[in-house]
Amino acid sequence: MNGTRTKSGLAQSKRLVVKIGSALLVDEKTGAIRRQWLDALADDVAEIRQAGTEVLLVSSGAIAVGRRHLGLLDGALKLEEKQAAAATGQARLAHAYQETLARHDITAAQVLLTLGDTEERRRHLNARSTLQTLLRFACVPVINENDTVATAEIRFGDNDRLAARVAAMVSADALVLLSDIDGLYTADPRRNPEARFIPEVTEITPEIEAMAGEALPGYSSGGMVTKLAAARVALGAGCRMAIANGRQLHPLKAIREGGPCSWFLPAATPLTARKTWIQGALKPVGKLVVDDGALKALSSGKSLLPAGVVTVEGRFERGDAVIVADAQGREVARGLSAYSAEDARRIKGHKSREIEALLGYRGRDEMIHRDDLVLSRS
Ligand code: GLU
Repeated sequence: MNGTRTKSGLAQSKRLVVKIGSALLVDEKTGAIRRQWLDALADDVAEIRQAGTEVLLVSSGAIAVGRRHLGLLDGALKLEEKQAAAATGQARLAHAYQETLARHDITAAQVLLTLGDTEERRRHLNARSTLQTLLRFACVPVINENDTVATAEIRFGDNDRLAARVAAMVSADALVLLSDIDGLYTADPRRNPEARFIPEVTEITPEIEAMAGEALPGYSSGGMVTKLAAARVALGAGCRMAIANGRQLHPLKAIREGGPCSWFLPAATPLTARKTWIQGALKPVGKLVVDDGALKALSSGKSLLPAGVVTVEGRFERGDAVIVADAQGREVARGLSAYSAEDARRIKGHKSREIEALLGYRGRDEMIHRDDLVLSRS
């Protein structure tokens, strides 16, 4: 099994998500953004992009910056105080990223997400294509939770899990969690001198879970426990993940050069993981019967265009899983529909350029994009 695992390291990554923890970015006492550290990080990002890797950042720090600014100094904040702090801090955070990346002529793009945006399939598809479009325009998305609108029930609450969901959503092949934790140890190193560092994990076993479980506050709550939850999401999406201490300047450069961190390695690639998800985990709620031309296009790896769709069955929304069938009703593929059943009925049999006139808005050219499509084994 091990031989088939993706290798650790950043060098082979095509699309990388980096999560930046508040403790690194924000001076705890003053609530100021640590510009020297951030500038060094931006230098790393520029270098990684030069080497051909797309980079998305998930940054915490809005609450830490905003609370000092509002004079909310010590102690726990109420949810609405956190939200007010986030609103204040997020503007400053985005500005800092914009400035530091501009030193390398890189455009920063702020994206605020809630749990629902990564869970609910219609919004998932929207967020995914916005992020992909930003990458196409060579921007660096700077993502955070939309803290001001998220209520207790719909909050991620921690950016480790948000970063893993983002990585899964954009089919990233690597995720790095930068925080003040070195990586995974067999026990809490601050309490147990015998604790051993674990450089590589290929499966999250109960033993691994136990290593994160029993620890001092700070190490466990929002610490290793959420990082393992993130690892589970990342591995499920075919994305390798590193936990690294980002305290020093140029933390990404250090990882690229083989510096210490714990790598979690998946068995699958992001593409096969996404296809497994589409094929197995989603219940199809509709059916698109397609013509012979479309069948041929699909079997040569192309997307399904509206022109090739003959009949639309069932009720579904944009982003729902549907079955693609031949004229005899036999399943030939499954995929995520880019249109609701109602809109699909209106555009079926038509050229993609007619979509806007038929629906009154310019949607996607494809009924099902090839990345969202899996051929069924016959
Ligand atoms: N979204 C929060 C913020 O920006 C941080 C959550 C976390 O640190 O995990 O302040």
